Amino acid sequence: MIDHADVVVVGAGGLGAATAFHLAKRGDLSVALLDKHAIGSQTSPRAAGMVSCLRKSDLMITLIKRACQQIERFTEETGQPLDWVLSGSLKVARRSQDAEVLAADRQRGRRMGLDVEQITAAEAHRLNPFLQTQGVEAVLRIGDDRYFNPAQVAVGFAVAAQAWGAALLPNTDVTRVDIERDAVVGVQTTWGTIRASVLVDAAGAWTRQVAEASGIRVPLVPTRLQLIVTEPQAGVRADLPMVRIMDAAVYMRPCEGGLLWGVYEEEPRFFDMNAFPSDFDVKDLPLDAAVLRAAAEEVRAQLPVLRVAKARELRGGLPTMTADGQHILGPSPALRGFYFASGCNVAGLSIAPAVGEALAMWIAEGQPPTDLSPLSVARFRDASWPEDQLRKEAAWQYRHFYGAV
Ligand SMILES: Cc1cc2nc3c(=O)[nH]c(=O)nc-3n(C[C@H](O)[C@H](O)[C@H](O)COP(=O)(O)OP(=O)(O)OC[C@H]3O[C@@H](n4cnc5c(N)ncnc54)[C@H](O)[C@@H]3O)c2cc1C
Repeated sequence: MIDHADVVVVGAGGLGAATAFHLAKRGDLSVALLDKHAIGSQTSPRAAGMVSCLRKSDLMITLIKRACQQIERFTEETGQPLDWVLSGSLKVARRSQDAEVLAADRQRGRRMGLDVEQITAAEAHRLNPFLQTQGVEAVLRIGDDRYFNPAQVAVGFAVAAQAWGAALLPNTDVTRVDIERDAVVGVQTTWGTIRASVLVDAAGAWTRQVAEASGIRVPLVPTRLQLIVTEPQAGVRADLPMVRIMDAAVYMRPCEGGLLWGVYEEEPRFFDMNAFPSDFDVKDLPLDAAVLRAAAEEVRAQLPVLRVAKARELRGGLPTMTADGQHILGPSPALRGFYFASGCNVAGLSIAPAVGEALAMWIAEGQPPTDLSPLSVARFRDASWPEDQLRKEAAWQYRHFYGAV
């Protein structure tokens, strides 16, 4: 057990491990990456691993493009495996109002240098025969989209951080943050004290607990997201484009000969982590396959396979939603040395490589490579959001993740 580090990163999921890797690689700061569970074992490995490049803002597209570059060079950079496929994707509108959103998406994508084009329903069916044309109003093909094995990202970054000299401390719970004169001075863990003047709260579903241990209120809410992996299906190829049905908020991609699919349901289930025992593990999260069955019904005309394909795996995790659907990233104005890498809004794993890189630069050099102030916790001036308002707005952001109106 170490007793000092320049930076303590709390949480070795995708966001924390990527931050620790980029910090350690710089070589000028000592880094400790702590996790109360095994490294990369909570929400990150349960993700779908889809990389959606056509985000809602130029800033997020800039970050995801950077993340794509890192995904391509992951093994070269980290020495660790990452299986990924440049499949592209098909974003499908079933209503005229969503077709208008797609047209705006296309313009933004083009302006930001993405490979996007509007195609006919018949062309989309030809590219992915599991997508039927009935009821399809418009389709956008996004050539830059890809998917990867979600279980490899956090572990790969963490192992590589260790190779660059970071201390890797699994099964180490941060129980308190030590503060003196409005600045972080260290953390208390289940194995003792670590002195540090910088702390990164990358605790995923537990972000609020770590922040509140430092007297900081952060408006985000752990939200259950589930998916199914089916048994192998005849006709599935790894390079079939992923499909997203906008208004139903259903997605599907190839996965080991079968299909991986999920939904952002209308009424998501939120969790208060204080209601769980302190050693709660995401693998024990209560799941509900009925949510997915209802989603399969909703898209039966376009993706009939989802109703009949036998499930091989049902899994779920707890990404964190914010009221405006944006990440929470960077320093807290309330406490010197306290940084956030959270508020992933169901798409944090794919962007983690770029977020970790930007945050490492912010910590080490005092500013990020690009203006990230729109993601600062400072935007929630009054952080004392009523919980029911936060959940209402977070539920809207969750359901409308694909921009349907
Ligand atoms: C079904 C599903 C599908 C998804 N699909 C996608 C997708 O296609 N693309 C995408 O980009 N994202 C997707 N996501 C979202 C993605 O999984 C998350 O955005 C991302 O994994 C969040 O990473 P994290 O590091 O914040 O959280 P986690 O991976 O949960 O890591 C947080 C870590 O902090 C640790 N921790 C907490 N408290 C403490 C403490 N006090 N002391 C020490 N350690 C602590 C935890 O043990 C945990 O390991 C999906 C999620 C789910 C569940």
